[in-house]
Amino acid sequence: MLQIENFINGQFVPPASGSYFDNIEPATGQVYGRIPDSDATDVQQAVAAAEAAFPAWRALAAEKRGRLLVRIAELLERDLERLARIESIDNGKPLAAARTLDIPRAASNFAFFGTAAQHFASESHFQEGLALNYTVRHPLGVVGCISPWNLPLYLFTWKIAPALAAGNCVVAKPSEITPATAYYLGELCQEAGLPPGVLNIVHGTGPRAGQAIVEHPAIKAISFTGGTRTGEHIARTAAPMFKKLSLELGGKNPNLIFADCDLATAVRTSIQSSFSNQGQICLCGSRIFVERAIYEPFKAEFLAQTKALTIGDPLEESTRQGALVSEAHLHKVLSYIELAQTEGGTMLAGGHQVRLTGRCADGYFLEPTVFEGLAPDCRTNREEIFGPVVTLTPFDTEAEAIAWANGTDYGLSATVWTRDLDRAHRVAHQLHSGIVWVNTWLLRDLRTPFGGMKSSGVGREGGLEALRFFTEPQNVCIKL
Ligand code: NAD
Repeated sequence: MLQIENFINGQFVPPASGSYFDNIEPATGQVYGRIPDSDATDVQQAVAAAEAAFPAWRALAAEKRGRLLVRIAELLERDLERLARIESIDNGKPLAAARTLDIPRAASNFAFFGTAAQHFASESHFQEGLALNYTVRHPLGVVGCISPWNLPLYLFTWKIAPALAAGNCVVAKPSEITPATAYYLGELCQEAGLPPGVLNIVHGTGPRAGQAIVEHPAIKAISFTGGTRTGEHIARTAAPMFKKLSLELGGKNPNLIFADCDLATAVRTSIQSSFSNQGQICLCGSRIFVERAIYEPFKAEFLAQTKALTIGDPLEESTRQGALVSEAHLHKVLSYIELAQTEGGTMLAGGHQVRLTGRCADGYFLEPTVFEGLAPDCRTNREEIFGPVVTLTPFDTEAEAIAWANGTDYGLSATVWTRDLDRAHRVAHQLHSGIVWVNTWLLRDLRTPFGGMKSSGVGREGGLEALRFFTEPQNVCIKL
């Protein structure tokens, strides 16, 4: 039984309430650990520790702060295999995915911002004979980071690393559905010699522990990744307190596949963008629009590859599709499969829960599912399902494809498949998405702005955007 504890002031401590709730392994449906049910008292302790640690942390030279973060990156790399296994058990994702994506990226997040801290320069503006303005970027103080369950350590560290690099102290809460790797991160911070109180990790539910972080008056900024509904709620609480807010929310991303694309690569990559992590990545493309001239060949190959995906125990090397994260989420996704059928969709592949045998007999497995014949504006095509369910729709003109792609409240990412350079730029610029990939998907450069338009969020993470978010600019004007 894995008993998780809060990490406050450099120590592992039980929640003030003394109560815990169950942690379930999605691949088996069995309880395998306990999570602290923290509340405002624990958050208060974490804030007090962070406030006490802040003066020394901000005063530390950027190089020294950066070195500590790079040290944490090295320890994450050293423990890659162990952490990948923990992530796979906690989340249901294939071990292979945790090993190649989640944990390496968590290490990269610390390495990237550890070095970025040393390159984050102030601006100055010189007016000949009149004035010199220079802009100082002060850390905010104590900041809150709240993350979701789909890429647990990857997204947790994507917030924590820039916050720390910029000189802030952090109170962070991972998802209560996937708390395990965040717990082990605390151990690595101890080993790396991160001063006590600089990073505090409070576990618990959104409405109790999360809400207490958002409401705490000493927490100056909230960096949140999660659902659009939760983001709305957080904004309603934090905005009147004038906190800085970065909200990375849901998506309903389109793939636009033009007839002149490299068909084999477009199909192969669309399989990844549809079903990686069981379709539980905010960047997954769930609406696939294909130009009519290649619709049938695309469909035939896409279905063949969908049906070939191996569903199995996430810990088996051969598994490509693991378990969905929870029973509740499995039922949510199944309800959308039912909805798609009532909306008139034709199910071309999947659609059913999978019953494995042995260890995973009670796990939350679902076949990758493909629909066609749905109107671009139906609920299935507008609402985020966040599972292995995609729709195929033929289109006739570029304008039609763009209009359909933009026809949801979301605007996180999009992919465009074409060999026509003019079209690639023209279409990309007309898409209402914060991120557009042309002839690829999920190819990341951590320096680029990351985030969504419309209901997909407010603000951008990544590179200098993140360091700007976690600092307060102050301009000093000197008359010459
Ligand atoms: P969620 O909104 O339910 O929970 C996210 C986090 O917020 C959890 O830690 C949760 O405990 C916390 N929370 C819940 N209620 C809260 C409250 N009232 N106050 C403070 N914190 C609260 O989201 P989820 O189900 O964990 O994650 C899935 C969602 O995340 C999907 O919508 C997905 O698109 C989105 N997501 C977005 C991105 C992105 O970068 N835009 C990345 C990954 C996931």
